[in-house]
Amino acid sequence: MTNGRPLKVLFLSAEVVPFAKTGGLADVAGSLPKAIHSLGHDIRLVMPRYGRIDPGKFELKQILPAFPIPMDKQTEEVSILEGQLAPDIPVYFVENAKYYDRDGIYMYPDDAERFILFCRSALETTQRLGWCPDVIHCNDWHTAIVPNWLKTLYHDDPFFAHTASVYTIHNLAYQGVFGYRVLEIAGIAEYGFMYHPEMADLAEVVDFMARGIYFADAISTVSETYAKEILTPQFGEKLDPVLRERSDRLFGILNGIDYEVNNPATDPLIAQTFDVDHLDHRAKNKAALQQEAGLQLDAAAPLLGIISRLTDQKGFDILGNVIDHLLDLGVQIIVLGTGDPHYHEMFSRLPQTYPGRAAVFLTFNAPLAQKIYAGSDVFLMPSRFEPCGLGQMLAMRYGSVPVVRATGGLADTVKDWDPNTGMGNGFSFERYDRWALFGAIVRALENYRYHDSWKKLQINGMTSDFSWQASAKKYIDLYERARINQAAERAATEQKAAEG
Ligand code: ADP
Repeated sequence: MTNGRPLKVLFLSAEVVPFAKTGGLADVAGSLPKAIHSLGHDIRLVMPRYGRIDPGKFELKQILPAFPIPMDKQTEEVSILEGQLAPDIPVYFVENAKYYDRDGIYMYPDDAERFILFCRSALETTQRLGWCPDVIHCNDWHTAIVPNWLKTLYHDDPFFAHTASVYTIHNLAYQGVFGYRVLEIAGIAEYGFMYHPEMADLAEVVDFMARGIYFADAISTVSETYAKEILTPQFGEKLDPVLRERSDRLFGILNGIDYEVNNPATDPLIAQTFDVDHLDHRAKNKAALQQEAGLQLDAAAPLLGIISRLTDQKGFDILGNVIDHLLDLGVQIIVLGTGDPHYHEMFSRLPQTYPGRAAVFLTFNAPLAQKIYAGSDVFLMPSRFEPCGLGQMLAMRYGSVPVVRATGGLADTVKDWDPNTGMGNGFSFERYDRWALFGAIVRALENYRYHDSWKKLQINGMTSDFSWQASAKKYIDLYERARINQAAERAATEQKAAEG
């Protein structure tokens, strides 16, 4: 609350469930705002209206007819549609056929322009609606220009005089690095490149992520461990100097998952609903999954699941080195993912080599994902680094036991099983090494043989709290902190100006 009134929060994200998703960012954008709203705040989202978002299906209505957005020396026309994330949580969709009416979400040569247009449209929309945000919550590089603008282009705009920015890093590996031209498109060429004594590169490129970190009034990332890791050269993706400089305003806040959508007791996508008191019902999901995936119907065979973007981040190089040894142990494996072609190749040979024991789906399929969470016994996430990771939390919510590398959010959510105390909700390993991974999986398989301890592991996972409740309160504190920082910085600038 601010002076007793709810905060007005504008939440910017390039992807939001249920409208468009490639990964965890969309899950967060589709669930955190609901938790913020349930704490009594007025939160509104903005995202592009990609071609794949059907206005009819989501009942989108135009609320602002076409208006011009400056893009360098020209303008681009956008109009704004409104939909709803939930009752009283509007989502404003930026409509522009040239930039957004395409099959995909990212990976276009003009991505910088696409997201500059999106962000500028978001700011102009609030002005046209006369709805002045206390905080603009920006997520990942696509929206990182906004904190930069609030300190430059829009600094003297009275509408935003009391608007603070929060920047959340969901994955430091995707920074949005472009050339000088984007400064012209963004209307901030007169301010030039960024300079940082330890980061010579910044004087030659425009790194959106670096700008978000540098200019935001408060910064967060999605787990406490990752917040510490990114201050080091090993995890800092070359931005650790600017992160260290801003470490006084950088916080780790663990992501949650949407407990309503992801509820094994009510999920309409799974063959058989179940809960922690009826874990035996879960077996039907395993059988249904084996059937659907063309695996042998075998209740006893441990079924290992993977649902992931197939990129180097996710640890599939070390998995690739031991996957044949694993299958030799008699396990079944099901993989759902898309990404780098060499991982497609690596996984796609498995079903022929191990018929009935390996199933591979190289696609994005949200309903199948739920079935894998609900039907697999073990969920693999051997990530090289992992800012938070939602897969392991979803797996635990659905009674699949995670095997993870202890890094970032995986370290914060998966506690290694101790059969002596009955504590722990999964299996983890430290060294990024194929045999360390293999050893953790073998430990899981050993425990799988003992019904009672396996059941305890599942219960521990299912009763771990990964809801948004605690984290949403931390975001409110972060918003307040951003407002304090913003006000202090503005006061200091004004005083300096007054002193001449
Ligand atoms: P990241 O954001 O790095 O991709 P997370 O674990 O944070 O990883 O989030 C991944 C989200 O995307 C989870 O909700 C997961 O279920 C989902 N997901 C990933 N790949 C697929 C896929 N191929 N099909 C369906 N859902 C997927």
